[in-house]
Amino acid sequence: MNIKNILAEDNFSKENLAYLLASQDEEQQLLFEKAKAVKEKHIGNTVYFRGLVEYSNRCNKNCYYCGIRNLNKEVERYTVTDEEVMQIARIIMENHYGSMVIQTGECTERHFTAHITDLICKVKEFSDNKIGITLSCGEQSQEVYREWFDAGAHRYLLRIEASNKELYAKLHPNNTLHDYNARSQCLDELKKIGYQVGTGVMIGVPFQTLENLAEDLLFFKEKDIDMIGMGPYIVHNQTPLAQQHESLLNENQRFNLSLNMIAVLRILMKDVNIAASTAMQTLHPQGREKAIEVGANIVMPNLTPMKYRENYKLYENKPSVNEDAEETKNQLEKRILSIHHKIGYNQWGDSLHFKNRTKE
Ligand code: SAM
Ligand code: SF4
Repeated sequence: MNIKNILAEDNFSKENLAYLLASQDEEQQLLFEKAKAVKEKHIGNTVYFRGLVEYSNRCNKNCYYCGIRNLNKEVERYTVTDEEVMQIARIIMENHYGSMVIQTGECTERHFTAHITDLICKVKEFSDNKIGITLSCGEQSQEVYREWFDAGAHRYLLRIEASNKELYAKLHPNNTLHDYNARSQCLDELKKIGYQVGTGVMIGVPFQTLENLAEDLLFFKEKDIDMIGMGPYIVHNQTPLAQQHESLLNENQRFNLSLNMIAVLRILMKDVNIAASTAMQTLHPQGREKAIEVGANIVMPNLTPMKYRENYKLYENKPSVNEDAEETKNQLEKRILSIHHKIGYNQWGDSLHFKNRTKE
């Protein structure tokens, strides 16, 4: 196999994808160059900001990798107040970000889901529909997804975490709350309702092979996903998966593999939105910029009030725990302009893939 021959094709087999994902040195540069060219041609060099609010760390689930899992009793649980959410909406308007992401631990209790509906309505009303809303609130019933959509949310992120069922089973408890088929079905329901649908996986998680990652890419393609959020897996010491830390790729390898995943995905799915994840920045100070350079086009500055951030620690060394909104904005702007990208202010930055698949 030769990387030039593989990159000359547009459709990749699982084996070819795994080959591309393993690229290093000169081959990796060729991969990145191709990804950059594809990005420039198909979606251009505009980056969209989404102000992120980590709304609540209360969660009913116990994913083996996640620091805010229900059984981690060392976490102090919080929920952001309505006033604070509206203050974040104000910051988004003042900073011209265009969109808000509401991310939270998974709770399905009615008082919780109804409260999210209420918040969506309030943010929409306050901003005169100028703020686009993305939700990342886990697995919910079809009725709840529909209610949130009707209230005004129009994008939804639900990472499949691992598209391979055996790997999924190694990363989650074996019970109905953590069921692969149910999660996958949620993606189908979100799409049916009319959301722009996002999914993704963690990269470099224990037990994962390059073939698994190649399968993930094919899964995104087969499901015709509009947006992808992927990032390196990072250990949280108070989780069951921390016991596997000796089997992990080192941080540099995980970072490079994550860049390769973004680049290959950009070549495979030319018009999707790809997020430059916070976890990339944890492993490298310019992690998000590097992700943008090889294919990503979405950044989610964290606007969660400072007092809560320590308690939304999904993994160790999560960044911006000590940065405030203004500092984050100035730094990010400078860095994005320095890599010759523009910022799409006051725009929702919707997925071109969604627009293309729903045309007619
Ligand atoms: N609870 C919702 C869900 O699981 O879909 C949304 C919030 S959850 C904290 C968001 C994402 O964090 C998950 O999809 C998972 O991929 C990621 N995450 C959790 N623990 C992580 C870790 N240790 N390293 C990297 N990413 C992690
Ligand atoms: Fe809860 Fe999401 Fe963390 Fe799983 S990944 S424990 S669902 S917050």
